[in-house]
Amino acid sequence: MNPHAQFCHNPDCSAHGQRDLGNISIHSNKERRYYCKLCKKPFAATQGTAFYRLQTSAEMVALVLTLLFPGLPAPSDRRRLWVR
Ligand SMILES: [Zn+2]
Repeated sequence: MNPHAQFCHNPDCSAHGQRDLGNISIHSNKERRYYCKLCKKPFAATQGTAFYRLQTSAEMVALVLTLLFPGLPAPSDRRRLWVR
């Protein structure tokens, strides 16, 4: 986890959207959460990404996104990838 690569996601915070101001610290390594020292709000490392609040594993979502990426066979052909 790298606090310098993160920014505060709270729109009411004076540091909202700005990186490397020294206001972000690690809140929990285990839960992968950061903390803004200015507005005192914690946030998930995945906030603002496609992986935020997932109920499915990140690996499965990455696999599905890869399969949906343009350049793969047409949807009717794609079905054959799942049927074995
Ligand atoms: Zn903040």
